[in-house]
Amino acid sequence: MTERQIAPPKCPSCAQIGLEYIVSSPSKERSRAKQPWFYVVHCAACGHVYNTISKHNFSQPVTPNFVLPKPS
Ligand SMILES: [Zn+2]
Repeated sequence: MTERQIAPPKCPSCAQIGLEYIVSSPSKERSRAKQPWFYVVHCAACGHVYNTISKHNFSQPVTPNFVLPKPS
């Protein structure tokens, strides 16, 4: 056992330990395309909010790093 092992996540509010207590919920607000505006990452036991994730952040467009040859 070393001191550098990765500890499981722990809720700072209610001290629940474990990834299974970290859940995400979509916002009630929806865009016109019925997509949630953001997701809330929170503790399943007490509701402590860790973070919010906007849809913008996890749908980054992938830009190819090469140029396709033009058809001639
Ligand atoms: Zn909690």
